[in-house]
This record gives sequence, structure tokens and C-alpha cells, in this order.
Amino acid sequence: MKKQLIKRSWAEPYKMKMVELLKMTTIAHRKKAIKEAGYNTFLLKSEDVYIDLLTDSGTNAMSDQQWAGLMIGDEAYAGSKSFFRMEKAIKEYYGYKYIIPTHQGRGAENILSKILIKKGDIVPGNMYFTTTRLHQELAGGKFYDIIVDEAHDPNSEFLFKGNVDIDKLDILVKKYGAKRIPYVSIATTVNMAGGQPISMKNLKELRVYTKKNGIRIIHDMTRVAENAYFIQQREKGYEKKSVKDIVKEICSLTDGATMSAKKDALVNIGGFMAINDYDIFEEARNLVVVYEGLHTYGGLAGRDMEAIAIGIAESVNDHHQRARVGQVEYLGHQMESYGIPIVKPIGSHGIFVDARAFLPHLTQDEFPAQTLAAEIYIDSGVRTMERGVVSAGRKANGENYYPKLELVRFTMPRRVYTQAHMDVIAESVAAVYERRSKIKGLKMVYEPKYLRFFQARFEIKS
Ligand SMILES: *Cc1c(COP(=O)(O)O)cnc(C)c1O
Repeated sequence: MKKQLIKRSWAEPYKMKMVELLKMTTIAHRKKAIKEAGYNTFLLKSEDVYIDLLTDSGTNAMSDQQWAGLMIGDEAYAGSKSFFRMEKAIKEYYGYKYIIPTHQGRGAENILSKILIKKGDIVPGNMYFTTTRLHQELAGGKFYDIIVDEAHDPNSEFLFKGNVDIDKLDILVKKYGAKRIPYVSIATTVNMAGGQPISMKNLKELRVYTKKNGIRIIHDMTRVAENAYFIQQREKGYEKKSVKDIVKEICSLTDGATMSAKKDALVNIGGFMAINDYDIFEEARNLVVVYEGLHTYGGLAGRDMEAIAIGIAESVNDHHQRARVGQVEYLGHQMESYGIPIVKPIGSHGIFVDARAFLPHLTQDEFPAQTLAAEIYIDSGVRTMERGVVSAGRKANGENYYPKLELVRFTMPRRVYTQAHMDVIAESVAAVYERRSKIKGLKMVYEPKYLRFFQARFEIKS
């Protein structure tokens, strides 16, 4: 008998022990809610949202082990047992020598930038992240993007869009000199490129280059385990290695890190700075007291540090990452099966729908991505967010930035939603796609001065 090939699906490596009930609403209710929110999904009340894909930051579901950990959190002001457990986990799984806890990722960015960056310094990086770049600039540095060109091309299916173009770095080193480059800033995975990974090969080449030139590598390790999973799946020589081992190898190629534990580490708040150089650590230990708290809690409760220690160990589990990335890929493939235009390859933390291709009859001044996010909310109560002309804001001279990309971001919280939720999301987008030609654009009726996407208000264009 011929052997039959049976498809073997992945499934969640956990089961539910407690559930949070959601309010089920009608289209009429949602039409009213989004109108009151000025057609801005940031201004919706979360109780009016059915499936919340606004962000993957701090929206993780903790495990029973983490919840149990909260109960043994040591709330001592100094020398908390929970700090030492977190420090031990960071050393064990990431391998960095010295640790400074902070309230979240940007707290670590602030301290690190203040110590390492002098006025006039150049900070190259594989694409920017909002808070990371801002802290580099506030410290007097200037950010330069040295990511490969493919990262800026939504139609490129290059598998490592997070890679550094070392020639671009070399140009900066030749122009400004290595002395003015305190470090190269490397994110795993690259958030603003849609959760795209850097390859180990590229990171190794970067290590060789930076060693030769005496430049540090600082690692934005917010989603390092997700990056490691992609390396395992896509890079030759890593198929048999565990996510845990790959994570440690990535970290070993860098000199220090900033971490937002609200992503990979499966908690709702927290972060840290890590560094291998003792002198930098000593300065950080002085500064953390000014901005965050004592060096054994850094703005965190003992129970938060306990949950981070446990979450780090869970995050490097192969089955966890397979389910995490697998769920995002599942949603992407469902959307593709309905012909929805999405950015590819599918990244680690969400799906990005191309709103310009979706609503080709709208001009960019009619806010296609903002419009689409509002329409999807009306259809099903799924909350997404705009990444397009509204998010891009205005230049110093008052003109709008007109970014090439008008995207709607479907960001996936970790361990929160089921495959049935994924089907509901994809079907909703498909339903909106069917009636796309009838969708009218928006006009902005209130524009805040800074980061307008958070609070801007809109009305339907008549
Ligand atoms: C979220 C994030 C940060 C900032 O961390 P917060 O915890 O939000 O302060 C830095 N870098 C990347 C890539 C992030 O996604």
C-alpha cells in the first residue's frame, strides 16, 4: 500500500485555565463607538473591542508558573531575591555579564544612550525604532540606517530583511571615523520592517568588521527568540539547533543589550540593560538610581522580576516559538487565500495589510490605512492600527510626510487568541475586501502637535 502523506498541524503547547470574557457587540454599536472615537482605533475603549491586535507589547498571557511566581515575589527595597533570580535567568539564557533592571525597554535605552553617546556621535542601526532613536538623539547622537535595501521594499521576499549592509556601515566609518561611532545598534527582529530577522551569517560578518574597527555592537533584544526561530527555520546549519542555543549565540556576538520584556519575555511590564564591560555597568548602576530605582529593582516590583525570570525560560522553548510564529503565519495564509494584499515574507509579530492595494480608489490624503482599520473594526470588532501617512506625521516645515507604505498592522499578542479567532479576523478582512469599492475615505478634523496618530480625529468624507 502506498504510504499516505498526512498533514501534521502544529497546535498551542498550552491549555486554558482561566478565561477573560469579552463583550460581544453589534455593528450598530461599533459604528457609534468608532464615530465617537473619531475613526481612530487608539481612541476606542478596550471594552468595545472583541479581538485586540493593536500591539504585542505588554499584552502577553502569563503562564500558571508566572502567576505562581508573583506570589513569591520578594518586595525588599534592596537585594531582592527576585532580582537575583532574574539576573540568573538573563545570564543563563542570554549570557550577558552585568544586568541593570529598568521599568521597560526605553528606561534601558535612556541609561545606555546617556553613557555611551557623546554630542556629535554617529549611531548606525538596522532600521530605527521610535524610542531607541529618540534616546540616541536626546543624548546628542545622530542615527543612520544601515539596513539592507530589501527591508524598504514591501515586494521583496528576501528572508533576512533585518540584515545589515556592511558597505553602508563602512562608508560611515570611512567618513566619520570609528571613534565617533560608539556602537552599532542591532535589533532582533526588526520591528519597523515588520518583524523581519537578521541572519547569523550577517551578524558574524558584522562582528568581524566591528572588532577590526573597535566598535561595539549593542543589541535591541526585544524579540531575540523570535529571530532565533527564523534562523532555525531558514538558515543553513541551524536546522538542528534549538532556539535556546541560537539565542545564546546571537547574544554572544554582541557587547550589551537593551530589552523590553513586554514582548519576548511574556510579561506585561519590565525590561533591563545588559552589558559585558564592567566600567559601563558601574556607570549604569549609578544612573539607574536617578531615573528608575535602586539597581536591584529599577522601577519593577519584585513580583515583576520573578515573572520575567520565568518568562525568559518559557520564551526560548522551541514549541512556544513554533506556535507563536505559526499563529501569525496562519493568519497571513488565511488572508492570502482570500486575495488580501499583505507584506511578505510574514514577520514574527504581526501581519501588515497593504491599504493602498486594498483601497486603490482612495488618495493618500484620504487616509487609506486609517479608513481600513476603522472599517475592519466596524465589521467585526477587531482592533488594528494605522501605519501610514497619519503615523508618519509632518516635517519640521509643516509639510506632511508621504510614506511609500500605507499599512494596517495586525499585531499578535502572545498566547492570547485561538485559531478560531484567526479565522474570524481573516473572514472579516475578506468581507470588507468584498465591499471595498464602496468604502469612502476620511478627513482629519483634529490634529495634535506631536505623534498625531495617537489622538487625531477624523470624519467620513462626504
Ligand atoms: C517596544 C520596543 C522598544 C521599547 O520598549 P518599551 O518597553 O516599549 O519601552 C524598543 N525596541 C523595540 C524593537 C521595541 O519593539
